Amino acid sequence: MPIFQDQKGKNIANFQKMIDEKKHTICKYYDEIGHLYYGQYKDMNIDVTKDINARCESISNIYKEIEELNIKILREKGLKKCAICSTENQLANAFCFKCGARFADDDAVPADVIAPPNACATPPSEMPVAAPAPAVEAEEAAPAPIAPEEAGE
Ligand SMILES: [Zn+2]
Repeated sequence: MPIFQDQKGKNIANFQKMIDEKKHTICKYYDEIGHLYYGQYKDMNIDVTKDINARCESISNIYKEIEELNIKILREKGLKKCAICSTENQLANAFCFKCGARFADDDAVPADVIAPPNACATPPSEMPVAAPAPAVEAEEAAPAPIAPEEAGE
């Protein structure tokens, strides 16, 4: 068996080990969430929403990391996954053999695909309907003093 095959096997085993560790961490977080929630159930005065949300966020991040590791494992095996239908394809394929979707060249993400975040562009048409201006009619509150221009002579 060629040496590079062995190296690939080692890489895959290494990635798999990392995935297993991450899955273990996820289980730990799920466990903690359960305990936190139960603590809240037992004592309604406790608010653990923040703690629970923090762990949920971590779990989401770890799932993403696992997904990235799975992609690396596939690559070691000479495979890649179709973004549309999730079918495993040969790395050399330009199109998914199942759904026909085109693969990005060499899995590289072209720079122009990553658009810079649009700095909160508010369309000018979003002007709120003008609230009726408070009718400030100086009613009889402050009668203007009559200028005694031709009063005295
Ligand atoms: Zn596909």
